[in-house]
Amino acid sequence: MTAATPPAWSVFKQIFAEHWDGFTRVYPRYNTRYYDSLVEQMLGCGNPDKMGYIEYRCLHCGEGKHRVAMRCKTSLCLRCAKVYVDNWVSQVSKMLHEGVIYRHIVLTMPAMLRNTFYQQAKDVLSPFIRCGVRCLDDVWSRLSGKSLKGGYIVVMQTHGRNGQYNPHLHIIATSGGWDPQAKQWRHLDYVPYRLLRKKWQWHLLTMLRQTVKTKEITRLVDACYTRYREGFVTNVQKGDVPARYQSLARYLAKYVVSPPISLRRIDRYDGQRVTYHYRSHTSERVERETVEVYTFIGRMVQHVFPKGYQRIRYYGVQATKTFATLKGLIQEALAKVKGIVKGAIKIIAPMTYRQRYQRSTGRDPLRCPSCQRDMEVWRIWHPTYGVIYEELKAIARGKYASQAPRADPAGSPGRTFWPTAGGIPLSLSGLQ
Ligand SMILES: [Zn+2]
Ligand SMILES: [Zn+2]
Repeated sequence: MTAATPPAWSVFKQIFAEHWDGFTRVYPRYNTRYYDSLVEQMLGCGNPDKMGYIEYRCLHCGEGKHRVAMRCKTSLCLRCAKVYVDNWVSQVSKMLHEGVIYRHIVLTMPAMLRNTFYQQAKDVLSPFIRCGVRCLDDVWSRLSGKSLKGGYIVVMQTHGRNGQYNPHLHIIATSGGWDPQAKQWRHLDYVPYRLLRKKWQWHLLTMLRQTVKTKEITRLVDACYTRYREGFVTNVQKGDVPARYQSLARYLAKYVVSPPISLRRIDRYDGQRVTYHYRSHTSERVERETVEVYTFIGRMVQHVFPKGYQRIRYYGVQATKTFATLKGLIQEALAKVKGIVKGAIKIIAPMTYRQRYQRSTGRDPLRCPSCQRDMEVWRIWHPTYGVIYEELKAIARGKYASQAPRADPAGSPGRTFWPTAGGIPLSLSGLQ
């Protein structure tokens, strides 16, 4: 039924099933109902009895049947990561504007600050994102000599490639900004490295000092200025930010939302230790690592954001309404400088469950194997609410006589559920 289940999935679940309780005793920070329920959902992911299911049947010949178990869609679940990435790409694509030139900028912090961030995550993560935005506005303004407001899509990532805690920001920034006084868009052709590094250091350390007001932080901040005289590491991705034909969002997803450790890369688990490998960002080589099981669990859960935390945020002129108003003006300004980059961003629709399944198995899951016609939703069952849709009842209510609206899985607000191998978001309110 779940053709896309990777082989390492059962090992991943086994590790959590066997060690989560022990882990939370050693790390009480994770001993909360929020984390417990994430783990519980992840363990039940794809299990129809625990998560619910949608059953499809052929209404033409009555032969074909297909049952799709719901997915947990939690950020902890590596099996849901692909769906998560695809939805992310689709969401970000919608926010990118054709004809506007963007840059991909990465803002990092030195190792000596990471522990502080880990300890104070709840207080510093949001200010961290905001200071990245302030830093870029500051750089654009300094460069142009005017006070500019750029547009930013900010994604925070908390892990490096090997799964270790290493918070950094990926920012998709407009190259230039809006000058509200002159009511003009000012395009900037380059980002000066030295300035960016120093500015970033100043903004990050100032934020830290203002947010965590302890003597220890003051000492740490001073040490950072002494040790990093050239500022903090920043990275302006060059050249390969796709300007045409390719999707910027898809490109970004590779950097930004790929899971910390890919499931297929767990090589060994003996009950106490886990061996996995990953591709190193710096050496581009495959690195292998063996860690104690609690370390492994720690690396997986430390990337789960605090409850209610927004991972992608939009700032400045990129914030929805503002941008729509300014877009024409931005394009006009850009046309003057170098002509509009046509078709720069392709909007990508997320794949449906059906497409995904077809791609991974080569078979259309919703086509009746006997008569080759499309199957329909027959029943939807949820562990808490029981049967929430039943075709027989719909027929009895005169669905076909009156041509009343069909159960439309997408588009209505309410709680959404995710089927096992893909992405038909099912809204409960739409089905009742
Ligand atoms: Zn899942
Ligand atoms: Zn049939």
